[in-house]
Amino acid sequence: MKITILIPFYNEEEMIEKTHQVLSKELKTMVEFEFELLYVNDGSSDHTLELMRKIAEQDERVKYLSFSRNFGKEAAMLAGFDHASGEAVIIMDGDLQNPPYLIKEMIAKYQEGYDVVNAKRSRDGERKTTSFFAKIFYKVANTMMDVELTDGVSDFRLLSRPAINAITSLREYNRFSKGLFSWIGFKETVIEYENELRQAGQTKWSFKKSLNYALDGILSFSNHPLRMIFGLGLTCIAIAGLYIIWLLFNYFSDPSQAVSGYFTTIFTIVFFGGVQLVSIGVLGEYIGKIFYEVKGRPHYIIEESNIKKGDQE
Ligand code: UDP
Ligand code: MG
Repeated sequence: MKITILIPFYNEEEMIEKTHQVLSKELKTMVEFEFELLYVNDGSSDHTLELMRKIAEQDERVKYLSFSRNFGKEAAMLAGFDHASGEAVIIMDGDLQNPPYLIKEMIAKYQEGYDVVNAKRSRDGERKTTSFFAKIFYKVANTMMDVELTDGVSDFRLLSRPAINAITSLREYNRFSKGLFSWIGFKETVIEYENELRQAGQTKWSFKKSLNYALDGILSFSNHPLRMIFGLGLTCIAIAGLYIIWLLFNYFSDPSQAVSGYFTTIFTIVFFGGVQLVSIGVLGEYIGKIFYEVKGRPHYIIEESNIKKGDQE
C-alpha cells in the first residue's frame, strides 16, 4: 500500500531539512507501508529549492515539483493532488507544526474505512487576537456558507483516492480548500492534537492575508451577501416609506412648518449613497470572481520537477 505525503514549501530554508529528517524518522516506524514524499516548492525566493533538490538526490522516495513563482498554498496543494501516486494522500505543513506522529493514527482511521481524516488542533500558544478573529470567522462563515467548517481543523489531513479524485475534478480558480474538502462529502472523521509552535522561519499569514482569505472563503461558498443586499434594499425602502408618510402627516397637521428638514435631506442622501456603494462593492466582488474564473488560466506553472511524464498512475 502506497501513501503519498504531500508538503508545500514556501521560503522554508530553515525548516525543510529538519522537516524531512523528522518525517523520515517517523516513517521508519511504519515499514508495512510504501511512502512517496511529494514536496512542492511554491516559488520560494530563498534556498528552499536547492535544499529540495539535494534531499531528492539522497532519498529516492522524494518527488518534487517547483513552481515558476509563488502561486499560493492552495495551488501547491492542488498540484500535489494532481501528481500524487499513492492510494491515499496526507497533506502536511512544511514547518513541523503538524506533528508527524499523527500519520500513524490517520492511516489507522483510513484503514477503518474513512475517506477523509481531519486533524484538529487546539489553539494553545496562539496569539490571542488570532484565535479571537478565527472564532469570529467560523461563526460568520458557518451561518453564511453552504458548507460546514470546524474551528481548528487545518489543512493537515488524509484523503483517500476517491476523495482526491473528487477534489482534483473541481478546477475552480478561487480555491478555498477548507470549503472544498467539506463540499465533496465522503465519510470523514476528526482526530485531535496539541498545537505546536513554529520552530524557525516566519509565518506567511499576515492579518491582511488572513482577512482576504476569510472573505474569499465566504464569497466562494455562498451567495448570501448578494441576498443580504436585497434584504437591505427592501428594509431601506420600507423605512423611507414610513418616513414619507410621517412627513406628509406633519405637513397636513401644520403646513406653516413646511420648509424644514435640511438635516434629514442630507442624512437620506448620505445613507442611501452608502447603501448603494456597499451593494455595488459586493456585486463587484462576485464579478471579480467571475472575471478570474472565465479566463480559465492554469492554477500553477511547474518550472522544474523530478517526476517524469508517465511516472504517475
Ligand atoms: N505555504 C505555501 N505557499 C504560500 C504560503 C505558505 O506553500 O504562499 C506553505 C508554507 O511553506 C507551510 C504551509 O504552507 O509549509 C503553512 O504556512 P505557514 O506555516 O506560514 O502558515 P501557519 O502555520 O502560520 O498558518
Ligand atoms: Mg505554520
